[in-house]
Amino acid sequence: NMQLPADVENIIQTLENAGFEGYAVGGCVRDTLLGRVPKDWDITTSAKPQEVKALFSHTIDTGIQHGTVTVMQNHVGYEVTTYRIDGEYEDARHPKEVTFTSSLAEDLRRRDFTINAMAYSHSTGLVDLFDGEKDLREHRIRCVGNATERFSEDALRMLRAIRFSAQLGFEIEQETCDAIRELAGSIRKISAERIATELIKTVTSAHPDYLEKAYKLGLTAYVLPEFDAMMQCPQMNRNHCFDVGTHSLVGMQQIQPEKDLRLAMLFHDVAKPLCKSTDETGQEHYYGHPEMGAEMTKKILRRLKLDNDTIAHTTALVRYHDERPELTDRTLRHFLNQIGVELLPDLIAIKRADILAQSEYLRKEKLEYLSQLESLCAGILARNECVSLAGLAVNGKDLLALGIPQGKQIGAILKYLLMIVLDHPAENTKEHLMEMAERYEKNL
Ligand code: ATP
Ligand code: MG
Repeated sequence: NMQLPADVENIIQTLENAGFEGYAVGGCVRDTLLGRVPKDWDITTSAKPQEVKALFSHTIDTGIQHGTVTVMQNHVGYEVTTYRIDGEYEDARHPKEVTFTSSLAEDLRRRDFTINAMAYSHSTGLVDLFDGEKDLREHRIRCVGNATERFSEDALRMLRAIRFSAQLGFEIEQETCDAIRELAGSIRKISAERIATELIKTVTSAHPDYLEKAYKLGLTAYVLPEFDAMMQCPQMNRNHCFDVGTHSLVGMQQIQPEKDLRLAMLFHDVAKPLCKSTDETGQEHYYGHPEMGAEMTKKILRRLKLDNDTIAHTTALVRYHDERPELTDRTLRHFLNQIGVELLPDLIAIKRADILAQSEYLRKEKLEYLSQLESLCAGILARNECVSLAGLAVNGKDLLALGIPQGKQIGAILKYLLMIVLDHPAENTKEHLMEMAERYEKNL
């Protein structure tokens, strides 16, 4: 017997009282059987959208043409979707049309994986037509029906298989794997946005290293070829015990499941495969090239159509992940100015994860350096020392008041003053900086 939230219970009851069928379905049934808390509760019903709308006082037309109405209960929305059959698929992308049906079985058959194709209501109990509960118990991702057919209908399902596998720590069943390997190339038909959603869910999951399955099955060759290059790039030196790709996968496991952190960890060495040098003995080495890495990361994230904040933050982490400033207050103030002080906590997290994914060679020393970096920076910030233009005791307006003309010169003088203050925090007083500005101006 499964516990449903009162709101869900109420929606199903209302549908049943009106002579329709209603079930909790998909992810929420799967997660509840696993003892996890579902993100949201989806309901599937024999009622048509207009019939659903007539039964509830507050509804939102979420996707009427696909049969989905959002029913509001106590200020929470529940998606109620009419039983449907997805019509013929166009381009392995979207169904050309959806057809409503009165059969729950038909609605369940169109779903991607057995563990996602179960429905539940108190009156009927669990409806599990494809042995989803068994696959759940045995930790298996398996297509409903013929895998090759299902991936031909919608190529995104191949990445969804990887994603669910990574979230749940499940294996992908053999036939399902074989079908992915066979059809991997068709993932090119899927939009960047839908691909990015699944990739991000994969790398922010409990098992981000399962991205390796996408590589082994040939999917990343199309959606993330840079990752394939990393997987094929050896780096056997004393600092490393993994090749570039595996080092990144291990690094992701060492950092919290936050999108920008995991993406930065994934891409921090993305330029390595492109930066090869040969030493005097003829031995090849790959070296990190953070600026190039940052540029490549930006290009990848743009291609995946991610938002500008994510791109800027992730790219900055890649750019600075290997900076190792001298541990003096003066150098660290310049360093904080360079990276932008908001970046510091995440940058330290990235640097720590990077170290933990390297060999044990000098690990203690590397971690010790990082702790000192962290505490010295904390000291600078606790003393409220100026580490950016915003912290200067004067601003552009003050300089205008001195009679310095509006324009480029103001910015140049502010930068000059900042350099002085980064070297000597005691000089950050308005009186002193105004004097310096005047002197600078006279010499121009
Ligand atoms: P999550 O917890 O990530 O939301 P979920 O199982 O709810 O997981 P959704 O993407 O929200 O996944 O989809 C809801 C349900 O719709 C799935 O459980 C599955 O039954 C079905 N579904 C979603 N996308 C597809 C697809 N591309 N092909 C077939 N069925 C799908
Ligand atoms: Mg969902």
